[in-house]
Amino acid sequence: MTISRDPVILSNPALLERVDKLRDLNIGQHVPLPQLVVVGDQSSGKSSLLESLSGIPFPRDQSLCTRHATQITSRRDSNDSVLINIIPGPNATEEHKEQLKGFRNKLPSGSEFRKQFTDILKKANEKMGLRTDLSTGKGEVFSKDVLKIEISGPREDYLTIIDVPGIFRTTTQGTTRDDMTLVKDMVKGYIKDDRTIILAVLPSNVDIATQEILELAKDVDKNGERTLGVLTKPDLVLEPSAQAAVCDLVLNKKRSLTLGYFLVRNRGADGGFEEQSELDRVFQTQPWADLPKDRVGISALKEQLQSLLVDITRREFPKLLQDVNNQIKDCKRELDSLGLPRQDEREQRSFLSHIAGAFQERAREALAAHYNADPVFEQDELRLITQVMNITDVFNADFRESAHSRHFEDLGVPKTPVVAEPKAEPKAEQNADPKAEPVAKRPERPAHRDWEETPAGVTVDNLRALLDKAKVDEIAPQELSELGDIIIPIQEIPKPRDNFTAWINDVHLQFRGMDLGTFNPYLVSISFAEQSHKWGDITKIYMSRVIITLHRFIAAALRSVCTEEQARNHLWYAILDTLVERYKTAMAKANLLIEVEQRKQPYTLNRQFAAARMEARGHRITELLRPTARRDTKQFGGVQYMVSLDDIAKAAAGKPNVEQLQEDIHDILKAYYGLAADRFIDNVFQLAVDYYLLTGPSSPLKVFTQDWVINLEPGELERIASETKQAKKNRSRLGKKIEDLSNALKILKSQDEQ
Ligand code: GDP
Ligand code: MG
Repeated sequence: MTISRDPVILSNPALLERVDKLRDLNIGQHVPLPQLVVVGDQSSGKSSLLESLSGIPFPRDQSLCTRHATQITSRRDSNDSVLINIIPGPNATEEHKEQLKGFRNKLPSGSEFRKQFTDILKKANEKMGLRTDLSTGKGEVFSKDVLKIEISGPREDYLTIIDVPGIFRTTTQGTTRDDMTLVKDMVKGYIKDDRTIILAVLPSNVDIATQEILELAKDVDKNGERTLGVLTKPDLVLEPSAQAAVCDLVLNKKRSLTLGYFLVRNRGADGGFEEQSELDRVFQTQPWADLPKDRVGISALKEQLQSLLVDITRREFPKLLQDVNNQIKDCKRELDSLGLPRQDEREQRSFLSHIAGAFQERAREALAAHYNADPVFEQDELRLITQVMNITDVFNADFRESAHSRHFEDLGVPKTPVVAEPKAEPKAEQNADPKAEPVAKRPERPAHRDWEETPAGVTVDNLRALLDKAKVDEIAPQELSELGDIIIPIQEIPKPRDNFTAWINDVHLQFRGMDLGTFNPYLVSISFAEQSHKWGDITKIYMSRVIITLHRFIAAALRSVCTEEQARNHLWYAILDTLVERYKTAMAKANLLIEVEQRKQPYTLNRQFAAARMEARGHRITELLRPTARRDTKQFGGVQYMVSLDDIAKAAAGKPNVEQLQEDIHDILKAYYGLAADRFIDNVFQLAVDYYLLTGPSSPLKVFTQDWVINLEPGELERIASETKQAKKNRSRLGKKIEDLSNALKILKSQDEQ
């Protein structure tokens, strides 16, 4: 058996050779390469055309009609060889892939291969799990695996052609409607790429109107730049009118295509082994002899294909280069996301140490509110110090508003009506000075209290809204299981009650001794403990909020520096116990501060204590005198109120001893409470929050450090940082792909320089 190989003039073999080298590097699976695809109806002559083009004798056994795609790549090489293997389809299982690996054939020459081809095809069908006997129901009818045949030899051309199963419209032996759709989708998949030349095979002896393939091709190739019509079986068209219809197509007079039609004759079903030149003799007969010579016969088609391939390759070249470049970038990004390789202890330690360093960096930036450092800080969870300060301001406001059990007496508010009864005033005096106001009014209180607005002018209500938005008080089940022992559920703090005076009177009456101008100091102690009994709850709520925020920060920061979930989870559980211990310590410090304030005898060295008491005393005398004060309009520089010395003496004299003592207790308590609250709030923040939770050496933020990594036991290290099988696989796959693509880039660039 000899198959004639027509000499083909290659317009640019170098270009095609380079593309072929890319194919050799398996680049085709990453970026589409220029190629030819033979498509059409079943039995339209696709495989026969392929045989004519490649010289490979496709078997004519109908049971072997194409049921999988076959890629034939031929290339020029000084040595003869044929390599055959199967590329698994996109959805192939691992098991199936393994099975296909077993199918690898290497033959010494094209002619040897041609002899064995039928057998090889049968074996390939078996490996793919295709049904050998269509009448039985065993196995698949079609497969998405691709039989790949690479032929090299000194007389081969650079050509890659893919034979795809034919489209069919009626279900025959063993094929189903699903198979029909499957094949159609397969065809569509093969023709969609811009770098693919579509050889639409149409039998001449069938009405072209029935051939679906031209429609499918038009869908993906709107301008018809890469669709070529190939009419087969001219020898079977005997009717002159049918012949005329075929000639009209070839002359592009009917259903015209941008690239036109070719008329070729393949070997028929009669089993003969005629040479191509013999087959082509049909074109010397009428009516075909009158058709343009460059539109009939295999060599004319082949020539056209080569130049089309070169055109498309040249046109697609810049895009190809870009595709390869983009893929390299994507692979590198993916590889980066896998982190450092970690097969041995050294690599594992380095991997973890790297993450610890990045984590510490995040923590530093988050404490310094240095959010410009990285776009990840757009996540609210990572804006640690801002959240903590918001929580602290809310704590401060809640504390001032609700921490005391009872409101202290507002010394500015007189117990008597603000305005003295006018009728009690002598009329004469009023007449004398009609503008004079009879009684001095208390200056108005400022509308807002200072803790309701932060120095930056943000109101506490705004901050409360921010806490709501950050869901600080909504604890997730996992958080609860991790922190349940430490944090307390957030609850509403009851508002302070009024009637302070009545209460202090009661306390005094229960604990009084022989108090002649003095009282039992224990009284202050007791009253203070009662007045401050909500401090504990408010403070624990504050601490809980900070701890949950910090806990979330640590989790989010770890996510941002360690993208691999398995390693991150192991790491999380490796540090969790220590984190929890440190939250507990901070909580314990806050509790200690609460206990110190509540248990010990109230005392302060703060000089403002005396000042505050004096102020209270001043207020009381002022309020006593206020009803007797008169406005003096004769004074310069503003309004003045005057009292007479007699009134002062009278005012102080009228008060009973008990009332005086109770007032004293109130005033001492009030002066002390204010100072103690200031001191306490500051201490909780400075010690429990700032030092123990955020910046001190035993802050939970300092658990996962590079030192911690250095001191990890090898077993523990292995458990946390060893790579998953999948990651190892991914790493080597990406490594290989980058290598292939980089080689491809080199080839493409050397092409550029030519
Ligand atoms: P496919 O299903 O599209 O791959 O079609 P085949 O290549 O298997 O061809 C189907 C039948 O048509 C086979 O028996 C071929 O021998 C026959 N055939 C293909 N091309 C020609 C041709 O040009 N002339 C003749 N007479 N028969 C042909
Ligand atoms: Mg076929």
